[in-house]
Amino acid sequence: MDDQTRNLLQRLPGVDRLLDYARQFDRLRQVPHSVLRNATRTALDALRHRLLEGDTDIDPGEVEEAAVLQRIETLVTTAMQPNLRPTVNATGVVIHTNLGRSLLCREAIENLSVIASRYSNLEFNLAEGRRGSRYSAVEDLLCEITGAEAGLVVNNNAGAVLIALETMAKEREVIVSRGELVEIGGSFRIPDVMSKSGARLHEVGTTNRTHLKDYAAALGEQTALLLKVHQSNFAITGFTKAVDLKELVELGRRHDVPVMEDLGSGTFVDFRRYGLPWEPTVQESVASGADIVTFSGDKLLGGPQAGLIVGKRNVLEAIKKNPINRALRIDKMTLAALESTLRLYREESQALAHIPTLQMMMVPANLLAARADRLGARLQAIGDARLTVERDQVDSRIGGGSLPLLRLPSQCVAVTLQDRSAQRIETLLRGSDPPIIGRIEKDRFIMDVRTLQEDDLPPIETAFRRILKKESP
Ligand SMILES: *Cc1c(COP(=O)(O)O)cnc(C)c1O
Repeated sequence: MDDQTRNLLQRLPGVDRLLDYARQFDRLRQVPHSVLRNATRTALDALRHRLLEGDTDIDPGEVEEAAVLQRIETLVTTAMQPNLRPTVNATGVVIHTNLGRSLLCREAIENLSVIASRYSNLEFNLAEGRRGSRYSAVEDLLCEITGAEAGLVVNNNAGAVLIALETMAKEREVIVSRGELVEIGGSFRIPDVMSKSGARLHEVGTTNRTHLKDYAAALGEQTALLLKVHQSNFAITGFTKAVDLKELVELGRRHDVPVMEDLGSGTFVDFRRYGLPWEPTVQESVASGADIVTFSGDKLLGGPQAGLIVGKRNVLEAIKKNPINRALRIDKMTLAALESTLRLYREESQALAHIPTLQMMMVPANLLAARADRLGARLQAIGDARLTVERDQVDSRIGGGSLPLLRLPSQCVAVTLQDRSAQRIETLLRGSDPPIIGRIEKDRFIMDVRTLQEDDLPPIETAFRRILKKESP
């Protein structure tokens, strides 16, 4: 160690001295002690580490109290920011699992906030004045909308699949096509969930082709269930064959074996009516005679995270009694949001008008163009010669494992900055407050306006103003 380093190490202020110094400033007196202390230790450790590593770029001024305090303040600011915070989704992916999947409709948010702040009849039967069922808030609605005999909701669809398999097929066999042994990301894989449920997987057919006779040949003493799984995030095209639910139900009936469908996303809306590709609806699956159908609350349905189960009364009764149900229990705030969302589906036009996920999927082209114009104009108005702003066409995706092949024509604002790579812009915007998440295409940073809310535009403009100021040469 050279003299200079030794000298700087000795001059580094101690934790207590820095804390005393920090408390002289009003803005830091407000900060919880633990936060200030941790920030102080971290700042000092970092400096000490650099000195010991032989970093010769350290200016003697950097070990002064005032300079260290600046570092502490930066750390404090970060620590005081909520970890979970609003983020601008400029990716155009409507059901973006990493960005929180579906946005709740206003009705759901209002109901959730009322139920969260008041006592409620969550598990109290008001008519009879005794204990009631938590699920009665949504079961009738689910039956009304889907035509099913009974319904239940759990924490998420992974939980719904798990509890259904555990209830119906533990220590017995479940027949599934090899083309449907999906992994949907986030470590949900049908074979793994199957083994956790205690059911044994009996695969039939091949990756691209499975026939009814494959299922029929696999039926035996041990068979507990025929399972159909929505392929969700991929598609097999070309020389393919899958057995549809109706045929599977007929086969099941003949052999007295129940049939389950994991619809994955699940929707109540026939998208063909709106010029979009067909996605099997929950109503169709129920009408096909499936004993049980499971789907997510926060994918195409556009509600809160939940796993919805509908089907035959006897099967649902068994699932409700399963002790695992208690472990997968849905929370009252989720239930409140789900009930409000489901109510909108009684009238499809209401669902389309109020549920953000559906609105974003179906937003008309002229509105997208107008939104892109507004965003583009804001950025142009910054009036910085280094900034190039273009409006362009892009394709949005639905995401969430829904309609994986679908590309929705959309509009974007593409930005380039002189002397800054698209990657650099992406990083800076991701680090702004609120964070802005876009994507890079053809070496430009692009923001797809499909998933932007109207009040996202001002913060995007602010973020660019900041970047341009900070990055001025
Ligand atoms: C998304 C999905 C699930 C899991 O649903 P979560 O609500 O995310 O738990 C299960 N099965 C399929 C086919 C899916 O697409």
